[in-house]
Amino acid sequence: MPTSSRPRTAAEIPEAQQLLEWYAREGRELPWRVRGAAHPDPYAVWVSEIMLQQTTVKTVCGYFQRWMERFPDVKSLAAASLEDVLLVWQGLGYYTRAKKMHQCARKIVEEYGGIFPAEREKLLKLPGIGPYTASSLCAFGFDLPETVVDGNVIRVLARYYGIAGEVDRSVITPLAEKLTPADAGADYASAIMDLGATVCTPFQAQCTICPLQQKCIACQKDLTEKIPLLKKNQKKKKTGAVFVLYSPDGKIFIRKRPGKGLLSGLRELPWEQEETFPFEAQWEKLPHKVRHVFTHIDLELNFYTTCTVPPENFLKTGQFISPEQLSGFPLSTLMRKVLKKLF
Ligand code: SF4
Repeated sequence: MPTSSRPRTAAEIPEAQQLLEWYAREGRELPWRVRGAAHPDPYAVWVSEIMLQQTTVKTVCGYFQRWMERFPDVKSLAAASLEDVLLVWQGLGYYTRAKKMHQCARKIVEEYGGIFPAEREKLLKLPGIGPYTASSLCAFGFDLPETVVDGNVIRVLARYYGIAGEVDRSVITPLAEKLTPADAGADYASAIMDLGATVCTPFQAQCTICPLQQKCIACQKDLTEKIPLLKKNQKKKKTGAVFVLYSPDGKIFIRKRPGKGLLSGLRELPWEQEETFPFEAQWEKLPHKVRHVFTHIDLELNFYTTCTVPPENFLKTGQFISPEQLSGFPLSTLMRKVLKKLF
């Protein structure tokens, strides 16, 4: 929320006014977005916001449409099985997001009759909704004057104010709050994000067509290539193993990934983040390798197989299926990469 005693309107904040005028002409058309007076759909906003975490707009568009056809509202999502939800989500990665959405939809049905609450404090108590998503929902879903700070906003404002040192959300949020108008929550948040996504882009700021050009410090001092200096997210390198087990009739062993962690609940060829083996056998290393980058891990998987018959307690964890049946199960992007090496 703006920090001044009386919230200012867009007409009183030159930058907000410039951005809104630019947005009315040049803003992106996105399937989950409406402009101006039309009331947005909080469910559609929420689905898009969760999908957009770690995923590009281009990729999300197709998934969003399929999702809305299959689960058009909170109630249909709450009534679905988790397996169905994961099947529609598969390929988007970060599967905890889909699981939390499913839990969240059930909670909204149970506690709010299937209608999203419009209060930030209530949103924050729902599964999978953190401070950023709560702000986005308030701004985009309820048109409230909530400040939303994503990577685009960080870049635009770091350049506009000429911040030369390392920046992150905590540095930019107080500045962003001062520019957020009281009377155009959804459009203003969309405008500044769109500017970052289409004009003030990471590698090529197009200052000559930017509505903020006149007072932008990075543009005036020719610093757009040096700003922003982002804090680095170091990824941990790991070498894991995937186990390729065939039955005598050529079927392949899959299981539901156990536990609560990374990718749990999805079907997979058994794999581990370390090169540890699931049972004692004569393991043979195959010539394939797969690399996959998660948020904090850069993983390289080696492939192993064995002719040893797996012990009963291992076999109980999954089943042998024909390769053609694989498409009927929710699979992670990592597993699709693995299967592409084998079939
Ligand atoms: S003037 Fe250039 S650097 Fe400044 S906000 Fe606009 S595009 Fe970005």
